[in-house]
Amino acid sequence: MHMLKDPRLVRQLAYVNGKWIAGHEGRDEAVIDPASEETIGRCTQLDASQIEHAIDSAQAALPAWRVLSVDARGVILGRWHDLLLENKEDLARLMTLEQGKPLDEARGEIDYAASFIRWFAEEARRAYGETIPSHIRDAQLGSVREPIGVAALITPWNFPCAMITRKAAAALAVGCTVLVKPAGETPFSALALAELAERAGFPAGVFNVITGEPEMVSQVLCASDKVKALSFTGSTRVGRLLLQQAAATVKKCSMELGGNAPFIVLPDMDVEQAAQAAIDAKFQTTGQDCLAANRIFVHRSLYEPFLAAFARRMGELTVGNGLVRGVNQGPLINAKAVAKAQELVDDAVTKGARLLVGDQSQAPGRNFFMPTLLADVTADMRVYREENFAPVAGVMAWDDLEQLIAQANDTEYGLAAYVYGHDMRPVWRLLRGLEFGMVSVNSVKMTGPPVPFGGVKQSGLGREGSRHGLDEYSQIKYYCLGGL
Ligand code: NAD
Repeated sequence: MHMLKDPRLVRQLAYVNGKWIAGHEGRDEAVIDPASEETIGRCTQLDASQIEHAIDSAQAALPAWRVLSVDARGVILGRWHDLLLENKEDLARLMTLEQGKPLDEARGEIDYAASFIRWFAEEARRAYGETIPSHIRDAQLGSVREPIGVAALITPWNFPCAMITRKAAAALAVGCTVLVKPAGETPFSALALAELAERAGFPAGVFNVITGEPEMVSQVLCASDKVKALSFTGSTRVGRLLLQQAAATVKKCSMELGGNAPFIVLPDMDVEQAAQAAIDAKFQTTGQDCLAANRIFVHRSLYEPFLAAFARRMGELTVGNGLVRGVNQGPLINAKAVAKAQELVDDAVTKGARLLVGDQSQAPGRNFFMPTLLADVTADMRVYREENFAPVAGVMAWDDLEQLIAQANDTEYGLAAYVYGHDMRPVWRLLRGLEFGMVSVNSVKMTGPPVPFGGVKQSGLGREGSRHGLDEYSQIKYYCLGGL
């Protein structure tokens, strides 16, 4: 932490109603650097009464915030955006310390996080209502969009800043107040965003960061009738739980859940190019990415050359502490994630997969998993069924396009899919046949503020980014002006 230029960005208390508050009786939890396994700090743990107080503060701040002009809210958001970029180096360092991702990826995430703030500050200006041709005599019909109210935002550890701004910027821009509950592994990034929000001039109670035991915090948030929207990014397992809890008060729910992305290589594709793209799509964020290419389907005519190119290019992956220059694969978030990755690899090998790359004896620490390549993966293997959230690539050959589509869709998930090839007929057939919320052809990069991010099936509900991102935090009020 001493490595930060601005030590005031390191906050260990929660941020509620414009104040930094400690949990009752000084309760706190250690935050661990997954690379060194050292404790980098402690984060306060609020209790249920303090979460209630935070909800009341967000509720109290709502009337004044929602009546500000969209431009006035945009000015504050604009300052927040600029402050993120001005403090990029510190924010990135803090993120690498608590999350483990390589520093360059962390810097990229700060740019990405800031880009949502700028986008939504602008886009909220165009959150138009409608005029409706009247079917009622002498009446004027239309609709306006109104902020939904207090929004609870629960976020994961793999993108500790961007998952917050992608939600908060949309909510704040349309006039909601927010309560952010970050993952316990990465609270410091969230609290640094709160420090910058304070400097940007958000009024007290508009932006709050509450830290505490996850089950308790989410139960209090879900039970409160004052919280009108719940936006969650995380695992499908927890998403289901939260949907059940939120049902009691009928909240508007937005769920960005897990993925099990297919990466499809068509027979007319250049093998080297396809292998590099698959590596980029698999090993970003050390495989701990909801968009990670989990199941790589390669046309049989290219299968062995693809495996050879993939294995060779994996030689460029350098595993180590994310703060060290040249490292592009950090640790996993904890030892449990490493154990799960090993289980998935063992399961696949037992069921007949070929282990082509992946020597765990080379791991530089307990929380590291060496990039692994499995060939001949089949549908009965856990690595095919489950989101592995580790640098484990599973590859298999395909022959028939229609069977391939059925295989790619043979998952409860439906977040992202990648297609590599040039012949428009199969490309178009795949675009239409793949049951995924996002399909990217010949590009690993697909996300960003202007596009609707989200999944189908059990990958979630709702969209983030784009103009649709505002829908999650606004509601339509229809009006009928009769007697004209
Ligand atoms: P997680 O579901 O374990 O945790 C997410 C959040 O929920 C954290 O804030 C955590 O503290 C909280 N939480 C955990 N258990 C809880 C419980 N029982 N009740 C209430 N809250 C609880 O997920 P994670 O491991 O932090 O993140 C990884 C998951 O997130 C992966 O499945 C990944 O695909 C998904 N993800 C999805 C997207 C997307 O946009 N679709 C983006 C990033 C990550």
